[in-house]
Amino acid sequence: MKIVVGHLYPEYLNIYADRGNIAVLAQRASWRGHELEVEAVSAETPIVPGAHDLLYIGGGQDREQALVAHDLAGKREQVLAAATGGAAVLAVCGGYQLLGRSYRFADGEELPGVGLFPLHTTAGARRMIGDILLDVELEPGERRTIAGFENHAGRTQLDEGAEPLGRVVAGFGNDGESGAEGCRVGRALGTYLHGPLLPRNPWLADWILAQAIAHRTSGDPPRFEELDDGLEREAHAVSARRARARGGRS
Ligand code: GLN
Repeated sequence: MKIVVGHLYPEYLNIYADRGNIAVLAQRASWRGHELEVEAVSAETPIVPGAHDLLYIGGGQDREQALVAHDLAGKREQVLAAATGGAAVLAVCGGYQLLGRSYRFADGEELPGVGLFPLHTTAGARRMIGDILLDVELEPGERRTIAGFENHAGRTQLDEGAEPLGRVVAGFGNDGESGAEGCRVGRALGTYLHGPLLPRNPWLADWILAQAIAHRTSGDPPRFEELDDGLEREAHAVSARRARARGGRS
């Protein structure tokens, strides 16, 4: 089947090869006989709720975020309707921050956000950089790890009761203190993890694909047959080792 992806601001929000996440989703979809159709959503492109099975937004420096934030905030109702309608969402770093309520720069300037994620972000003086490892449980009883790389000045505060994506085993995460990383609202995931994220976390790529297919079919997320992910597992292991070598939240 065709899986339609809305890639938000690919020309501005694409650092650390975040575009690679789309390539992984496309490849893993085609190995299962599905086809990923990717539509670039830029300034002035409306988001038609229901048209996309997955919305994807990558990371970017403050300057690039400032170039897209007001246009994205103008699409607030469309993004919220798409997510409420069951579309999957993957938001990475700068994109994750802009799907929260707001991002305040160190100089006090504040960028508006979409408010899909119950959180806000404030830039700190010191950047939080390095390999990071998370403990995650997206499905009850299925504990997994996610390994990646983070580089952000933003400190993200989740609202009381908000669900993080995972617990920090090693690295900074949302704010370098709380031990929480990212945020989850149903099929919408936000994270600081670059790398890109999905090549070294193939189970997560499959989870996101399954949510997108569930939207397309209005059914349950399919369970995919295992693929030979030997190389991906090795990349994960190397990244996890590097993160652990950094030690706990530093
Ligand atoms: N500009 C944001 C920050 O510094 C996000 C950076 C990123 O996407 N890597 O926190």
